[in-house]
Amino acid sequence: MKALHFEEHGGIDRLQFGERPEPEPGPGEVRVRLRAAALNHLDLFVLAGMPGIPIGLPHIGGADGAGVVDALGPAVEGIEVGAEVVFDPGLSCGSCEFCRAGEHSLCVSFGVLGEHCDGTFAEQVVVAAASLAPRPAHLGWAEAAAFGLTYLTAWRMLFTRGGARAGETVLIHGIGGGVSLACLQLAKLAGLQAIVTSRSEAKLARAAELGADHLLPADEQVARGVRALTARRGADIVVDSVGDATWMQSLKAAAKGGRVLTCGATSGPNPKEEIRLIFWNQLSVLGSTMGSRDDWRRLVAAVAAEGLRPVVDTVLPLAEGRAAYSRLEAAGQFGKIVLSIDG
Ligand SMILES: [Zn+2]
Repeated sequence: MKALHFEEHGGIDRLQFGERPEPEPGPGEVRVRLRAAALNHLDLFVLAGMPGIPIGLPHIGGADGAGVVDALGPAVEGIEVGAEVVFDPGLSCGSCEFCRAGEHSLCVSFGVLGEHCDGTFAEQVVVAAASLAPRPAHLGWAEAAAFGLTYLTAWRMLFTRGGARAGETVLIHGIGGGVSLACLQLAKLAGLQAIVTSRSEAKLARAAELGADHLLPADEQVARGVRALTARRGADIVVDSVGDATWMQSLKAAAKGGRVLTCGATSGPNPKEEIRLIFWNQLSVLGSTMGSRDDWRRLVAAVAAEGLRPVVDTVLPLAEGRAAYSRLEAAGQFGKIVLSIDG
């Protein structure tokens, strides 16, 4: 099969488009012939190499995808070859105490498709049968491939971890990235007031079209801006996937008793922190990673029922994977960067 892969860690010039062996599904697994795959920031980290996380080489990245089931492993029931599917990109053992409790993203051996095993930047991928969901009928292949990891992350963070309720105010940093856009769309669906930030006026204008209630430039005045917009109260919920560059503003912008949610650190993982803001304002700092199978099922049901459409920035052929990675690295995108796969 054709695949975008790399044989050593490094920059985008390490990516190669060429032949890799077809994967075979094991017990409880299926093979999916992919029609589209979507990039996540994770793919840049995996390509560069992460200390302490060994990755088998050569490696195929990609957590998100959509396609057609083309082979069943042993002991797979209730799924037919030819089914059009999307899948939860989380890898969990199914048997540890957390999996048994339904908390799959707390699995003691939790991993991510395309990080801990070969991923979706290929004509075929093997995934767990239990991770499959039907492709929402209103989504084309590119859109179907584009909502997995980021929407699942946003869903768990806002609702399962953050307990977001209609009428609350949420601050979302760095609108334009996958998770932040998913948070905006899901927050508006749930009846929250959304304040978004960006350094780009064009991205702020796009966010307004998607329903953002208030727009702020991403600078050192974000918390002040949030206070001005909320009668000095602050945001009930702050979504921070940026890390170093935004964390202090997140703490300052949160309302008393507010929840500050972290799911990523695209600008770095060691921000300055003012712990007096946390105890004095009695903030809850909540970490969140991807989602459980229950989060996944609820998300897919909501996407289908509400006709949600993930925002797609660019669609490029799999053979032009380097260009797709470059666009992600440059951070100029608004929405998901998708690879189309003819298969
Ligand atoms: Zn487990």
